[in-house]
Amino acid sequence: MEEAASRIKLLYKFVVTSELSRLARWLRLIGYDTIISTSNKIDFLHRICSLQSRILLTRMKHSMYLFKSKYVYIDSDKHQDQLKQVIKALNLTDFILFRRCLICNRILSNITKEKIEHLLPDKAKMRFQQFTYCKKCGRIYWKGTHYETMLDFLHTTVQDYPNVHIEQYTYDG
Ligand SMILES: [Zn+2]
Repeated sequence: MEEAASRIKLLYKFVVTSELSRLARWLRLIGYDTIISTSNKIDFLHRICSLQSRILLTRMKHSMYLFKSKYVYIDSDKHQDQLKQVIKALNLTDFILFRRCLICNRILSNITKEKIEHLLPDKAKMRFQQFTYCKKCGRIYWKGTHYETMLDFLHTTVQDYPNVHIEQYTYDG
């Protein structure tokens, strides 16, 4: 019970147009369900937003006056500024780290080291005990140097947003 009570429910789901695929990875990293659209057609994007209750993030200007669902026009082509803009525009306050696969958006699962040991680089095998993996694409995650780099990036990104609360995801297995 205690564990369930501590869990945050993230308010938003996103769809991004293809030029924002890097931003999509960062949104997944902080826990947000984010898909990359296969089409830039207004009708298609509108359908995804209304059927799946997603907010569109885009750098498209063309025809956006026709778009009837909620969207955020992203000004910058730098992913850190893009992430800041989303945080600010939607007042995002809750981040749940390493909950989703960065590649395909699926919620990650726990896996014991024994099961995947043969797939790991030697360094990871020696240094880490906890691993997660994606049931869809098979990618394995651990908290190596890339993890530290991403944390640094995130902390720099949110330093102007004191309300942001960063939590580590607790895996179901
Ligand atoms: Zn995956």
